[in-house]
Amino acid sequence: MLFHSTRGNDSGRTFEEVLMQGLANDGGLFMPDYWPQINIEHIKSLNTFIDIAKYIVPLFTKSSFSDDEVLELLDSTWHDFSKKNYAEIHQLDKSKYVLELFHGPTAAFKDFGLQLAAAFFNKSLIKQNKTAIVLGATSGDTGSAAIDACRRFESIKSFILLPDGNMSEVQRRQMTTVESSNVFTLRVSGTFDDCQAIVKEAFSERTFLKDDQFLLAVNSINWVRIIGQICYYFYACLKINKFDEPLNFSVPTGNFGNVFACYSAHKMGMPLNKILVAVNNNNILHRFFSDNDYSRSKVSETISPSMDISIASNFERLIYDFYSERNSEICNSFYKNFPESPIKLDNQMWEKSKELFLSYSVDDFSTIEAMKNISESYDYLIDPHTAVASQAVDSMQSSLEGTTVILSTAHPAKFPKVVSDAGLNLGEIPECLSIIFEKEERSKDFPASKELIFDYIVHNNS
Ligand SMILES: *Cc1c(COP(=O)(O)O)cnc(C)c1O
Repeated sequence: MLFHSTRGNDSGRTFEEVLMQGLANDGGLFMPDYWPQINIEHIKSLNTFIDIAKYIVPLFTKSSFSDDEVLELLDSTWHDFSKKNYAEIHQLDKSKYVLELFHGPTAAFKDFGLQLAAAFFNKSLIKQNKTAIVLGATSGDTGSAAIDACRRFESIKSFILLPDGNMSEVQRRQMTTVESSNVFTLRVSGTFDDCQAIVKEAFSERTFLKDDQFLLAVNSINWVRIIGQICYYFYACLKINKFDEPLNFSVPTGNFGNVFACYSAHKMGMPLNKILVAVNNNNILHRFFSDNDYSRSKVSETISPSMDISIASNFERLIYDFYSERNSEICNSFYKNFPESPIKLDNQMWEKSKELFLSYSVDDFSTIEAMKNISESYDYLIDPHTAVASQAVDSMQSSLEGTTVILSTAHPAKFPKVVSDAGLNLGEIPECLSIIFEKEERSKDFPASKELIFDYIVHNNS
């Protein structure tokens, strides 16, 4: 299997190239040339999350790594989870389950994608005898998951830009208290968009890199992250009803990576009823699914900060695969002038959404209400991101048939202030989150200046 861009001008690429490059040369996102099909009978005979990963991951990696290499890599890919099977399933009632994806070392679901990414980065770097710099901007959980996943590998140095803003103290401390010599946390006085702009320029200029050094992208457009996330959808089906009847998944959504992984699993043969795209007040995706209006608007700060985005990058993959039926010219025509010109599909094309997608936008007040309701009804605490997905299920109940799975993307203890504002008790705090309050914060302050930041990287890149 090879990979190609959604915009049609970068194709025939191997898994390793796509892994190390991130974005395609024509500005598009990489897609597999076809959807590998899984055998449901075979997957039903499996048992653990790793069994499933060992079946799914090699379907995408054959162009660069032998199956034996990948199977060996998968034995040590996911680490420092507090649960043996990584993801846990919690039943709320007859027709509602929660898929807990926050048992990893940074207490958010991003560990699934980023630990797989880091394991493959390292494998590739060793094979090529090269080193790499990870440069990323983060407004929430990506930074900590990337830092944690990469810091165990000597070949990788991570530089993470933290904007001023809305992340929780826990989220910030997870990044500033890391004691590894290959991790650098830069607090930038500027917005997330300022930081993103610097990262973007870094990728086009690359002046601070040594010869033969990679600059790696850890943002959610990297295909390898999607692969890691596809695995837990199959796992959920296996554990909940052995694929007996199609499930609904309600997914708290920002950049659309997690939803696209669900869609991908479906294209590979996972039975699926509906995907509920649950967003906070940053509702570009809800405006699209309800009104055919995909237009950028200003980011508003919410109590579910990891979903505060103005554009959902991975949505381009859906435009390409689902709506344009893999016609890159059509996809390109939508994205050529985006975001200056909004995307509006022709009506017939847009109507197709109804086969598979529902959406709902939840404001902060209703998010808090959902946390309270779930706590009262089921004696179960959820974080504000999970609450957005849960509230969406309640509001859309009449359109959902059968069993629904709510994806829980973060541990509530990452957002203690929201929990206490809701009048709820945190209960036991996972060790990975309690220790960061005993450690000193280490970070360096920067103005939003590309020159100063590049200089700092050069200085620490020896
Ligand atoms: C990143 C994140 C999301 C959004 O995931 P996407 O794949 O970007 O849609 C939701 N919840 C939490 C806790 C996150 O960290």
